[in-house]
Amino acid sequence: MSTVRLLLSCLLFKEVLASSGNFWHITDQHWDHTFNLTANPELVCASSGKRPAANAGIFGDYACDSPWHLINSSVYAMKDILPDPDFIVWTGDDTPHIPNGDLGEEAVLNIIGNLTQILNQVFPTTKVYSALGNHDYHPKSQLPAASNSIYNQTAEMWHNWLDPESKTTFQKGGYYTEKLLNRTGFRMLVLNTNLYYDQNKLTENMDDPADQFSWADQVLTEAANNKEKVYIIGHVPPGFFEKKRSKPWFTPKFNKEYLDLIQKHHSVIHGQFFGHHHTDSFRMFYNSEGSPISTMFLSPGVTPWKTTLPGVVDGANNPGIRVFEYDTQTLVVKDVVTYYLNLTHANSARGRWEKEYRLTESFRVPDASPSSMHQALERIANDHCYLQKYYEFNSVSYDLTECDSDCRVDHVCAAREVDFDRYEQCVLKEGAAVISGGLLPVLSVAVSLVLANR
Ligand SMILES: [Zn+2]
Ligand SMILES: [Zn+2]
Repeated sequence: MSTVRLLLSCLLFKEVLASSGNFWHITDQHWDHTFNLTANPELVCASSGKRPAANAGIFGDYACDSPWHLINSSVYAMKDILPDPDFIVWTGDDTPHIPNGDLGEEAVLNIIGNLTQILNQVFPTTKVYSALGNHDYHPKSQLPAASNSIYNQTAEMWHNWLDPESKTTFQKGGYYTEKLLNRTGFRMLVLNTNLYYDQNKLTENMDDPADQFSWADQVLTEAANNKEKVYIIGHVPPGFFEKKRSKPWFTPKFNKEYLDLIQKHHSVIHGQFFGHHHTDSFRMFYNSEGSPISTMFLSPGVTPWKTTLPGVVDGANNPGIRVFEYDTQTLVVKDVVTYYLNLTHANSARGRWEKEYRLTESFRVPDASPSSMHQALERIANDHCYLQKYYEFNSVSYDLTECDSDCRVDHVCAAREVDFDRYEQCVLKEGAAVISGGLLPVLSVAVSLVLANR
């Protein structure tokens, strides 16, 4: 190769490197400050709610929320794996799953404060974009649509991370927007979707709690006018829980409004990053022609806590943390790398966070753009090998049992359809797809007639 060509290819390589960035996404740490290794397995942690923590060790137990040792270990693992990310996305749920009566406002604020402090300590110069979870309030899930002492005090704790204007909207409604890393043309939108959670009695009858929808609509309209590219982060996602049939989080009205917001502004939105599920999944958004327009990535939690949601069988997970690789010029998500701690191994040998998988390798897609994620979803829907791989990653390699036909319908329809009606139609259609014999053609014709109207 001539010197000129070598020089040129080096320059090109540098160009590629220059537009490649990465950030951490962590979520759902759920620190259980009551965790202690006592002889009685029922008394190891309050978050087990008397379920025995039979295999408890210093890193925790699947029946419990995170001991401090696990949280500490996860933050130092981040520092070891990727010490200098462009920024950190943190999507909330800091407190343990224990009754309101055993927490209180002061305890909630102390827990948020401790987690804020360790991130500040380990990543003192890194920008953190932080969203509130439904557990970051007392009483839990009752986040108000107006100013209150928890929003105010949290804004104080996060003063390093919030611009002055962000602090104002955060104090009003727990949301804010800023230029992404102060760069012209790039924006972060941090939402308080706890206002749309169907458990939130304070907001269920409101039209637009804390004016967040009209504010977000305005921010995204201005973003389009200013040719900005936007990431959205939040805690409670719209759509359905993939581990329980027909289980949504938002009220029907708020779910529709969220979907409308994304469909209206998708051309400026280049990624949505949420938590709350504790599992590893994603949600697709399509336009009226059925083309993929946006993806919401649901990142796994740090807590391994086995959910008590009725109807979910063995709903625990291994602790997970995640790096997103993105193009700093286009904000297209290029890849997703998930790291995890096998809790059983960690307790019995030593705590080693390791790579679980890289999205593009495991699902054989070129990147994590909406069209690639659509392609991945079609593989998951139609090829059992991909479905099984996805299913094992869903619990961060905790539940390695077979994903059967009902399981397939639950996961595929939750990922494919955020809209409530379309989800139910998907369940019918995909359920019918596994019925052999004469019923299938009749049902699929009926369902495709309904679905043609996307
Ligand atoms: Zn959570
Ligand atoms: Zn949550």
